[in-house]
Amino acid sequence: MKIVITGSPGTGKTTISKLLSKQLKLELISIKEHVEQNNLCEGEECEVDIPKLKKSLEFLEEKSDYIIEGHLACELEVPADFVFVLRADPEVLRERLSERNYNAEKLRENLMAEILDYCTQRSQASYSVSPLELDTSSKTPKECADAIASAIKLNKKKLDDVDYSDSLSRLLGAGPSTIDIHGGISE
Ligand code: ADP
Ligand code: MG
Repeated sequence: MKIVITGSPGTGKTTISKLLSKQLKLELISIKEHVEQNNLCEGEECEVDIPKLKKSLEFLEEKSDYIIEGHLACELEVPADFVFVLRADPEVLRERLSERNYNAEKLRENLMAEILDYCTQRSQASYSVSPLELDTSSKTPKECADAIASAIKLNKKKLDDVDYSDSLSRLLGAGPSTIDIHGGISE
């Protein structure tokens, strides 16, 4: 059984994957740890070279069982029987990310990516199996791990219906102060 758990930062991948790995007795591979252990990133922000990361994960082809978790998993195409995209309401995500020292721009980029279903769309493009979205906003980590285990057992084709588009205007706040005639927006 090969399971991919992806989603924006703060959606609960690490927390839920640890529970799921114990529950299903599957080896857990954290992309973040793999990147750190193999010096696959550069600079203060730890920029990851995706082709290099892909190459370094080729060993997965030899494995028959694992859970691999990380937001970069939606940019990859590792062997997968199931792909789960964890989601969180942008207001909940804002709370969860407030504990990380993200600057305002990085926070906004991450919330925007969540509102625009970035990880879901990337996963749809990357994998041959359809990704299943799980909204973690008002569930406990245990309930999320159970929902994933049950989706696998019952071979579910759908979990939650996620639409955070209502949050866009809240994120944009008061809106731009100027808009140029060609369509450029500045604040
Ligand atoms: P990620 O690996 O996606 O960046 P983490 O698991 O590191 O996310 O962090 C998620 C944070 O949100 C943790 O502090 C966790 O306790 C909290 N949290 C609250 N509800 C949930 C939930 N249903 N599932 C997972 N994490 C949750
Ligand atoms: Mg994590």
